[in-house]
Amino acid sequence: MLTKAPKGTKDILPSEVYKWQYVEQAFAEICRRHGFGEIRTPDFEHTELFKRGVGGTTDIVQKEMYTWEQAKRSLTLRPEGTSPVVRAMVEHKLYAEPQPLKFYYDIPCFRYEKPQAGRLRAFHQFGVEVFGTDSMMADAEVIALAQEFLAAMGIENIELRINSIGCPACREDYKKALREFLAPKYDQLCDTCKSRYETNPMRILDCKSPEDQALVKGAPRMLDYLCDDCRAAFEELKADLDAMHIAYTVDAGIVRGLDYYTKTAFEFVTDTIGAQGTVCGGGRYDHLAEEIGGPAIPGVGFGLGIERLLITMEAAGVEIPHRKGADASLVYMGDAARRECLSLLRSLHAEGLHAEMDMMARNVKNQFKYADRIGARYAVVIGDNEIEKKEVSVKDMQTGKQETVPFNRVVSYLKEKN
Ligand code: ATP
Ligand code: MG
Repeated sequence: MLTKAPKGTKDILPSEVYKWQYVEQAFAEICRRHGFGEIRTPDFEHTELFKRGVGGTTDIVQKEMYTWEQAKRSLTLRPEGTSPVVRAMVEHKLYAEPQPLKFYYDIPCFRYEKPQAGRLRAFHQFGVEVFGTDSMMADAEVIALAQEFLAAMGIENIELRINSIGCPACREDYKKALREFLAPKYDQLCDTCKSRYETNPMRILDCKSPEDQALVKGAPRMLDYLCDDCRAAFEELKADLDAMHIAYTVDAGIVRGLDYYTKTAFEFVTDTIGAQGTVCGGGRYDHLAEEIGGPAIPGVGFGLGIERLLITMEAAGVEIPHRKGADASLVYMGDAARRECLSLLRSLHAEGLHAEMDMMARNVKNQFKYADRIGARYAVVIGDNEIEKKEVSVKDMQTGKQETVPFNRVVSYLKEKN
């Protein structure tokens, strides 16, 4: 028990961390190109933020939050990235700056869910948010950024699905129609959905239970109930995506798992990684800032699951470049040589080279083995003979070829070669 990580969590070991670093750097780079600045918020917030922000009838708030009391305050580990960023934007009055505001993040999230492939209790998300504009250009921009990133990661088998889930005005009529449709099936709904029937029947469409999924088949579509403003916005979004040559399908079934969404909802879905195929999900949230007590500032963004991204890349056979091995490994014979190596090691590091030497007091043969294991391109060998002549011998570990290099030249020699 003590030597096992909690269920639904995963260590990222040194042998695989290069994959994470690769996607993290790529995401940061694409965000830079688009003018998004990184924001970092704490890993926990006041519970009320998520209750108000994400919504009291969502799966996240009803079943999935890690919440505890401390000093009479209720705190919750962040289950998603948007509400904390909106909170920070309001708290620091970032909206006083010229708009739109464009942020990105790379965060751990925590949800108490049934662990499966691509579904963990401690997982990671990339995300972006744009604040201050209700223009569909912003929606198209965040979708384009996600699409560009997924394409850059070598994922081709992924579909963009878009929908509009309307605004509080047109949703009322739709909710009425949905309740009428569900009324005869009410008794067969799961208990959670029964409790949502009055308050938030749209949540029932997003229920994960297969029985409930079957019951909502043929339900009325929000798209048929959009008000003029929401309809025009959806047409505009589609036209903007067309202009950017971004392919999509309209999927009236997308409602998203968070209550704060208005108008645009979208997902990038793949069928290459099993049931948990939504790699990226997002949408517009025009009332979230007000909902948590801030000014009325519209927003749009997405969250992209890094674990799901990596398994999708693996399924697609994407080869993630592995950083190369060491530039040099130092091999010594005798104590005077060992001290010479310690000094040389410092000089190599100062020049930015990846250099190592054995720290286990191994014999020469095993020091060479070590050089092999760390993938060193060169072994730099120093013994009494070398010290006397003030030179080292440098062995190319691939060809086995050996060269003699004066002490004062060895750093520049290795720098040129690597
Ligand atoms: P799902 O329908 O699969 O539960 P969701 O609608 O709850 O997803 P969001 O809240 O929109 O997901 O989160 C955005 C992305 O974060 C998802 O598309 C997914 O890639 C990832 N994600 C969500 N929950 C988990 C989890 N428990 N484990 C791993 N990744 C997750
Ligand atoms: Mg979920």
